[in-house]
Amino acid sequence: MYSWFREQVCLIVCPYGRMQGVLLDKESIVVAYDYRRGEPRHKMKRNEDHGKGDCIDCGLCVRVCPTGIDIRNGTQLECVNCTACIDACDGIMESVGLPKKLITFASENGIKKRRKLHFTSRMKAYITVLVLLIGVEVFLLSTRSDYDATILRAKGMLYQEQPNNQISNLFTIKLVNKTRDSLPVTLKVENFDAKIQIVGKSLSVKKEDMSQGEFFVYMYKSDILKRKTVIEIGIYTNGKKIKTVKTNFLGPII
Ligand code: SF4
Ligand code: SF4
Repeated sequence: MYSWFREQVCLIVCPYGRMQGVLLDKESIVVAYDYRRGEPRHKMKRNEDHGKGDCIDCGLCVRVCPTGIDIRNGTQLECVNCTACIDACDGIMESVGLPKKLITFASENGIKKRRKLHFTSRMKAYITVLVLLIGVEVFLLSTRSDYDATILRAKGMLYQEQPNNQISNLFTIKLVNKTRDSLPVTLKVENFDAKIQIVGKSLSVKKEDMSQGEFFVYMYKSDILKRKTVIEIGIYTNGKKIKTVKTNFLGPII
C-alpha cells in the first residue's frame, strides 16, 4: 500500500515531473540512457567480449525506479530525476567490468551527436529568471520584520463614557514574535495625551510565538473632534520602539 502510494505521489502529486515537460528541449541535461553505447542490449557475463551494446538487460534500472519507468525508452514525463537508475546501472557496469555512466546526466543531442554541453539561449533565459527569483527571495528575507502586530477595536463595542471628561475604547492586540527572545511589551499613544490600561497583568510574547491581549485607551473629550479619530499606538519592548500601529478611536457624534 505504501509503495503504491509513493508511486502515485511521484506520478500525480509531485509538480517536478509536470514542470519538466514544459521546460525541456533536446539540449537539456536530464537523466538519460546512452542508447548509442548500450544498444543492442543482450545478456552477458563478466569481461566477456560481446561485440554488442553495453546494456546487459538486467532490468535493475527499472526495478529501482520509484515511478516504474524504463529510462531506456527515452526521457519520460514520470521521471523525477532521482538518479536511482544511475547508481543501480553503475553498480552493474562495475560488476561486469564495463565503464560506468551507461545511464548518466546528458542531453538528447549530447548522446546523439556526442556533443559537449553548450549554453543555449533557453538556458541563459532560465538562469536569468532563477537569479532574479533568488534576488527577490534574498531581498524579502533580509527586509523581513522581526515583529508583527495587529490592533483592532473589540468587536461589538462602541465607546465608554468615563469620569474626568474622558472616553475609553477597548482594543485587542495580536503580537507575533519571530525572534529567539521573549519580549515584554508596553504600549503608548504617540499622537495624543491619552492613557493606556492593559486588561490583565501585562503584555508579553514568548520567543517564536504569538500572543493576544486587550487594553483600554482613555482620551480626553476635547481631543475628539469627529466620530473616528486616528490614533498611533507605539509598541515598545525594553524601552525600544519596535512598531507603530494606526487604528481608529471611536467617540460620540459631536
Ligand atoms: S541497469 Fe544498466 S545494464 Fe541493467 S538493464 Fe538497466 S541500463 Fe541495462
Ligand atoms: S531518475 Fe531513473 S530511477 Fe529516478 S525516476 Fe528517473 S528513470 Fe526512474
